[in-house]
Amino acid sequence: LLPEVLDVRDTLSDLTHLLNRLVGEKVTLTLSHDPVMRPIRADKRQLEQVLMNLVVNARDAMPNGGEIRVRTEAVTLDTPLKRDRAAVPEGNWITVKVSDEGVGISPDQLQKVFEPFYTTKRTGEGTGLGLSTAYGIVKQTGGFIFVDSVPDKGTQFTLFFPVYQEGQDDQVEVAEV
Ligand code: C2E
Repeated sequence: LLPEVLDVRDTLSDLTHLLNRLVGEKVTLTLSHDPVMRPIRADKRQLEQVLMNLVVNARDAMPNGGEIRVRTEAVTLDTPLKRDRAAVPEGNWITVKVSDEGVGISPDQLQKVFEPFYTTKRTGEGTGLGLSTAYGIVKQTGGFIFVDSVPDKGTQFTLFFPVYQEGQDDQVEVAEV
């Protein structure tokens, strides 16, 4: 684990070429960034792995093509944001949203997607490790990951990363995953 201070826009820019190749010709990848950005602290390779996972999943959800949107945003929470059984503490966060127009995930499956070995793919097509790995990596940065989905409309993953504050290098918690 090699956490470094980075700008998620740069990480995404460095990945754009690869992501565009991964999504293929039927899928359009659109990136949009908040011009007001703050740094986060994360292992760059792991962050790239998470973003690639989410984009590949989004692609696979759209066998007939469509659009994948990746958006970054600097967000300030004045009060904790409660979602599922989690609460994102107040403060400064960078969010990355990855959304698709694909088949969607049914409500009964939605809470299971971050569990190890969860997969809807056929044997040999997916290991089921993608999203639980993504969950663990996001947790290691002190962040959160949420999913919203509407069957036949699409799915959106929202990642929250704590904004890096100078002098807080030691606050990265090592998750037991
Ligand atoms: P849970 O998954 O049963 O986790 C219970 C507690 O175990 C968590 O309390 C946390 O203290 C610890 N824990 C679980 N997984 C990890 C991990 O990967 N790394 C670290 N460092 N600690 C871990 P917490 O944080 O108050 O979360 C309560 C519940 O809220 C969790 O129950 C889970 O259902 C939900 N939750 C927490 N974070 C997230 C998130 O980022 N996304 C989503 N979708 N749910 C979350």
